Amino acid sequence: MNLTFYGSAKEVTGSLILVKTNKYKFLVDCGFFQGDDNDYYRNKKDFDFNVKDIDFVLLTHAHIDHCGRLPLMIKNGYKNKIYSTQATKDIVNYILLDAVLVMQNNWKHFRRPAFYTQDEVFKTMDRFETHPYYQTFSPKNDIFITFKNAGHILGASILEINVNEDNQTHKLVFTGDVGNTLTTIIKPTDFINGCDTLVIESTYGNKTHKGVDRRKNDLYNVIHKTVKSGGSVLIPAFSIERTEEILYDLNDLINADKLQNIPIYLDSPLSKNILTVYKKHTDLFNDVAIKKIKQGDDIFNFPDFTIIEDTIQSLKVINDRQPKVILAGSGMLTGGRIINYLPIYLTQKNNTIIFISYQAKNTIGEKLLQGRKTIMIEGKKIKAKCNVTQISAYSSHADKRKLHSFVKNIKHPSPKTIFINHGDVDQSSGFKQELTKHSKAKLIIPDPGKNYSI
Ligand SMILES: [Zn+2]
Repeated sequence: MNLTFYGSAKEVTGSLILVKTNKYKFLVDCGFFQGDDNDYYRNKKDFDFNVKDIDFVLLTHAHIDHCGRLPLMIKNGYKNKIYSTQATKDIVNYILLDAVLVMQNNWKHFRRPAFYTQDEVFKTMDRFETHPYYQTFSPKNDIFITFKNAGHILGASILEINVNEDNQTHKLVFTGDVGNTLTTIIKPTDFINGCDTLVIESTYGNKTHKGVDRRKNDLYNVIHKTVKSGGSVLIPAFSIERTEEILYDLNDLINADKLQNIPIYLDSPLSKNILTVYKKHTDLFNDVAIKKIKQGDDIFNFPDFTIIEDTIQSLKVINDRQPKVILAGSGMLTGGRIINYLPIYLTQKNNTIIFISYQAKNTIGEKLLQGRKTIMIEGKKIKAKCNVTQISAYSSHADKRKLHSFVKNIKHPSPKTIFINHGDVDQSSGFKQELTKHSKAKLIIPDPGKNYSI
């Protein structure tokens, strides 16, 4: 059996792994590569293998860097199945349709043609077959797959794969993305008993999240201080999990009689859709969230909360000067409705922008966090005078401590080979160094495109 990683640590991040057994070929994830200005060309490019030879695809979760290129497979003639959980499928539908909208915008602004269509997204969705967590299924003879809960975003899976060949069983585990220690809505990460080969992500393989247990209080303090001084709070938020977690915490703060009479807006068509998927899959929520719902608490809704329906309503909110909280996409200020707020809200010194997620290099978000005062937004120079702050404990990724304890818990048997995948070089090599101290496994940071026999 062998594994080939595409778009791993040394090039850019993005998940696409080809697994070849004696009889079959399958993919784990088929995501967009994200890293630099060449992403468009990298993602548009043909696959390095014939998609018609692939027997099936396993999808760990719905983030675009794991599912973004699926329609391109369909476009190139892939006719077989894509396996995931139902929640992942429901979110992927909205994520891929949103990707088409972003590509159509890119055509308008940069004359870069879209490389798949809405119709190809619909055809992609027709290829899905869903399975719940913990129920083993067998897409081909001698291959047995179980989805476990990754605790990362709704529906995200860790894949346990048993392959019978040459009279023995080889157990592979692909973590996809591993969730943070505190999951306010979904159930926490399942630990894995044992495996022969482990493929683990390393997004924060060399970083510790600080203040996870006080993040709600940090959020309250920033909002309270800003509103008291007559300002508004802008929260750029990713649509999956992060938006829901912030709404959940705001609901808690309001139930605790904090943050009274402050209008709170969600201005993101994608987040609005994803919120409906979360409301459909409450069976995946943790005990605390389920208890609140049973007691009659609508955990994503509270007084003075408005979901913005259209751009006219959005414009009204932008021009309204009373103190408020606005949650809007995109999380890295690379597009979305948040862009319309920036020219006004960044220039007022009593406002605050709170970053709750990772800001990639060269994004407006990263520049603001570095203290840059003059930034360009859609060709216009803006003087940033507002407060800029960050609460990184809202990450939906495990930090190095959690990743390390995840590996340590795999004991029966402990893995012989560990591939440290899906992270910037400093994160994956930092994690490798840490693991060297505790694990006897062969540790590999895979080179993109290279075959590894296991
Ligand atoms: Zn993810």
